[in-house]
Amino acid sequence: MTAPPWLAEHWVRLQARVQRGALPHALLLCGPAGLGKRDFLRRFVRGLLCERPRDGEGCGECRSCRLFEAGTHPDFVTLGYALRKDGVQRSEIVVDQVRELSARLAMASQFGGWQVAVIDPADAMNAAAANALLKTLEEPSAQTLLVLLADAPWRLPQTIRSRCQRIEFQLPPAEQALAWLASQGVAQAADALAAAGGNPGLAREWAASGALDRRQEVRKDLAALAAGRGEAMAVIRRWLDSEPAQRLWFAAQAVADEARAQAAGQSPPLASQLDADGLQAWYAAANRTRDALSGPLRGDLLLLELLAGWR
Ligand SMILES: [Zn+2]
Repeated sequence: MTAPPWLAEHWVRLQARVQRGALPHALLLCGPAGLGKRDFLRRFVRGLLCERPRDGEGCGECRSCRLFEAGTHPDFVTLGYALRKDGVQRSEIVVDQVRELSARLAMASQFGGWQVAVIDPADAMNAAAANALLKTLEEPSAQTLLVLLADAPWRLPQTIRSRCQRIEFQLPPAEQALAWLASQGVAQAADALAAAGGNPGLAREWAASGALDRRQEVRKDLAALAAGRGEAMAVIRRWLDSEPAQRLWFAAQAVADEARAQAAGQSPPLASQLDADGLQAWYAAANRTRDALSGPLRGDLLLLELLAGWR
């Protein structure tokens, strides 16, 4: 599969660094999920470790490429969520993991080339883990590349961020995103891109998973409730039944559209009785509720409270 066009510039710049022998010891790859930063990184590391790379691309045939594809390259290590002793997956990256990684990076590479370590998601490191990593960042070994991947880089301590060369993946221009979606066979490309807030990777995923129907349904539900039709409990059941967080994202989006239409003096699509301040407050509440869904509170109660403020 060819790489999406919005990655091309990052690729060229990174390869130029490799050519100049100016690859930094630490990279921070960040930006919204869905733009392909993990694929980008795999492609880059494969080329870096390859014994006969062409224009930075791995040849796919050498010992290094074969081991990399098999996930058993001795000079490539990935750190992510580990399992606790009771077999449950941790929700953060802990200090022991980072220490183990640092010890490994302090040793010479097995194949005599680069050693690459990836921490993904780096923003899941807890404070002690981040502190331990700082030591490794301050005393880098030669031919060692540490890559941090983060969807939410602001959660990383500034001391870590400042020691990494940052590669920021941004949403591409709509035209480029639409052309790419068309090349991927996405039928309702414009709707999907709007639903995904301009994120083409997310748009492709959502178009394939019925998200556009859910988006339509959420708008219908909100319009019905605003008109005093429809029943909140039925809406809550429907929303909780499939992809509640995504539905709340769509609900917030719909209300943002409503506020824009009100402000522009156009007929607002949901015909809400809330004024500009009310819409803004509800928008914020919908986003808070979306975050709270992953917490300990009951989803039906959270939604009930949110919808009680909707009219
Ligand atoms: Zn190769």
